[in-house]
This record gives sequence, C-alpha cells and structure tokens, in this order.
Amino acid sequence: MLSSAEKTQGERGLLKKALISGVTGQDGSYLVEFLLKKGYQVHGIIRRASTFNTDRIDAIYQDPHEADVRLFLHYGDLSDGTGLRRILESVQPDEVYNLGAQSHVKVSFEQPEYTADVVATGALRLLEALRDYVSLCGRKVRYYQAGSSEMYGSAPPPQNEATPFHPRSPYAVAKVAAHWYSVNYRESHAMFICNGILFNHESPRRGETFVTRKITRAIGRIKHGLQEKLYLGNLDAKRDWGFAGDYVEAMWLMLQQDEPDDYVVATGESRSVREFLEESFALAEMDWQQYVEIDPRYFRPAEVDYLLGDASKAREALGWTPKVSFWELVRMMVEHDMELARQERTLKQAGHRVTLRGIANG
Ligand code: NAP
Ligand code: GDP
Repeated sequence: MLSSAEKTQGERGLLKKALISGVTGQDGSYLVEFLLKKGYQVHGIIRRASTFNTDRIDAIYQDPHEADVRLFLHYGDLSDGTGLRRILESVQPDEVYNLGAQSHVKVSFEQPEYTADVVATGALRLLEALRDYVSLCGRKVRYYQAGSSEMYGSAPPPQNEATPFHPRSPYAVAKVAAHWYSVNYRESHAMFICNGILFNHESPRRGETFVTRKITRAIGRIKHGLQEKLYLGNLDAKRDWGFAGDYVEAMWLMLQQDEPDDYVVATGESRSVREFLEESFALAEMDWQQYVEIDPRYFRPAEVDYLLGDASKAREALGWTPKVSFWELVRMMVEHDMELARQERTLKQAGHRVTLRGIANG
C-alpha cells in the first residue's frame, strides 16, 4: 500500500527515486523489491563483471524498452568517484542507500587494502559526490550507510548505539571509518545521513560463503548425495541472526524520520554456530556431528565472539520489530536449499557439471 504522501507524489507523476549501491547483493535485492512495492523508481549501481552478477534481481529486472519501467541499472563502482558523481547527477535521487561492500570478514584479512578502499573510502567517495550534488542542486537527499555489528567486535553484549566500537577485522575497521565519515558529514554539512548498525541478517539469498548459508547449502547437497562433508571453523561464535527481508524495512524507516540518526537493528537473541548447525540439520533429520569437520583454514586471526543487539531505539523511534523468527529463518533457508540441491542433482543426473562454487574460500 502506498502512503498518502507517496500517492500524492505518484499522482503528480513525481515518483520518489532511490539510488542503491550494492543492488546485486542480498540486501540490495530485498530493498529493490521493498521500494518498488512502495511505489519508488529504483536505480541500482552494478559492477561490470565478465559473468552475469545480477542473479538476485533477475526476477524483477525489466527490459528498459518496456513501458512503466521502474528499475534501472547503471554501471559504477565505489572505487570510481567520477562515475558515482555522474550517476548521482543523472539519477537525481531522493534517497541513496550505500550497501556496496567487500562484505566478507575472513576475506578482509586477505585483502585489507582493497576492503578499506571499497568499504571506507568508497563511502567517502559517495558522500563527497553527494555533498557536491546537494550543494549544487539545493535539494535535500537522504543517505543510508550500511553499518555492521562487526564494528562492536570485542565489546561485551548486549550492544546498542552507546556501546563503544572495538573492531576486530579490516572489514570492521573500514565500516567504523565509514560510520564516522557519515556522522562527520551529517554534523559538518547538515546532510540527512543515517547509519544503520545491522546485526547479521540472512536469507535464502545470503552469499554462500557466510556460515548460515554455507551450512544450509551443505545440508541440501549432503541429503541429495552431492557433498559428503562440511568443513567449518569456530563453532562457538555467537551471532544475533535475523531475516534480511525484515532489515531492509528498517533502512527505509530511518530515512523517513524528521531527523537523521543512527540505529541498531537486531533481534535481541543470540545463538552459536553450533546451535545453528543443530537446528538446521535436525530439520533435515540429520545428525550434524556425522558430517561436520573442523578445518583451521576457516579460523580468523581475530574472532568476534559474542554479538547480541539491543534494538530498543529502533523499536521505539521507528516502530520497527523483526517479523521472522530464528526458527522460521532456519526453516526458510533449509527448505530453499533442499530444493536447490534437488534441482542440482537432476542436472547432474542429466550429465551437467555441478560444482561447489567458492565454498573453499568461505
Ligand atoms: P553482499 O551480498 O556481499 O552484497 C554486497 C554488494 O556490494 C554486491 O552487490 C556487490 O556487487 C557490491 N560491491 C562489492 N564491491 C563493490 C564495489 N567496489 N563497488 C560497488 N559495489 C560493490 O552484502 P549484503 O549481505 O547484501 O550486505 C549489504 C551491506 O550491508 C554491505 O555493506 C554489508 O557489509 C552490510 N552488512 C551486512 C550484514 C549482513 O549480515 N548481511 C550485516 C551488517 C552489515 P557484486 O554482486 O558485483 O559482487
Ligand atoms: P560474520 O559475522 O560477518 O563474520 O559472518 P559469517 O557468517 O562469515 O561468520 C559468522 C561466524 O561463523 C564467525 O564467527 C565465523 O568465525 C564463524 N564460522 C565458523 N565456520 C565458518 C565458516 O566455515 N565460514 C564462515 N564464513 N564463518 C564461519
């Protein structure tokens, strides 16, 4: 349903425009769907790749030649400030969501410089481009920065907006920098900028090298005879896992407030990787201990042991609460990946090559 303000804009032929970096990622895909339902015209920044990287949004992508198209894609990269400026000027958005990132913690230890360039300096490039754009055109543009609970690192739980950051990885350090750039631009240039500090959120669209998806993919593949073992690292780490579809609503709500602010978004429940294994394997009527082996390659040089978010502020100020429970999330992911593995098995039986893409790096 469109709100009355959105309807009025629509009736005047002035759809609200959103620009999203990281539109091909897990959150980007849910956010596009959410904003299209709200009546927005949505513009996404995609990276040029030698293979297609738009899987997650293919189902909603419309050929730009069709009538009433409301989703547009633009080539760009957070490492290319000039390109970002050009996209801003041509799109003229009302809201900008900076979701683009090298978002994998373990990979950030292998590629710290690249991670800093995309995550920290990339955010700075986008903020700089936006600062110039708003001062030239005199419009108020609202900006969302995708912050992470990883920024809390070793700070004891529960973590909320007042908890001091103690990042434990190059990824987390870069996110802290992006967070403070955003605060600084808000304070220095009176820009409407919100930091969302989102705790881990998952879905059937989660990247396959993050632990939850790595587990549910393995469950499906083991069940269908495509994989024998699942190699993991630290099973004791605890995370506050929510559903990505719920979390994109919180991003949007932040930008609809009268004043910009920073918010923790979390479920308020934390579980260990071991507990995730127990629950997810049990759904498939399997004993995880028969299949899981520990491989030290998945240990991190410094670990984040215990994340548990206190999202009271988001609940009170935004009226946001998560809708999908932990159990529903696990079930959703297991069922999805069971079906995916069934399709893979069918393909394999028909003679197609089925590979474990990227799993070794996760
Ligand atoms: P994701 O699935 O890894 O998606 C990352 C997106 O960023 C992809 O679209 C990726 O493009 C794009 N990207 C990577 N490098 C880029 C570059 N140099 N320039 C422009 N775009 C680039 O991540 P996600 O789970 O959707 O998370 C969205 C954001 O929230 C990220 O900033 C992440 O760090 C942050 N976050 C996530 C969580 C979580 O639990 N999911 C929690 C807290 C914060 P390709 O598709 O081409 O790779
Ligand atoms: P993160 O919280 O952003 O680092 O999300 P991940 O899903 O990558 O990792 C969550 C936790 O699972 C971390 O404490 C990891 O150390 C732990 N973990 C254990 N085994 C694995 C593994 O094989 N892959 C990943 N990605 N994480 C693992």
